Amino acid sequence: MAGGTKGRSVKRRCLACGRYRVRGTVIRRVFLCRACEERLLTTGVNDPEYDHFVAGLRKVWPEFR
Ligand SMILES: [Zn+2]
Repeated sequence: MAGGTKGRSVKRRCLACGRYRVRGTVIRRVFLCRACEERLLTTGVNDPEYDHFVAGLRKVWPEFR
């Protein structure tokens, strides 16, 4: 049996988009993939997607505004 893929590429589920990604940031045990992190920072309050992000974040991060 060949061992194979024992890598460091542990995938975690992004809170915002729900996809499993390797790269991202963990904020208070909440994982945000790189794309969503940047998205969140660049998305304006007027953007409909912003609500989606915030709603997801608040589930685990009540203080997030
Ligand atoms: Zn994401």
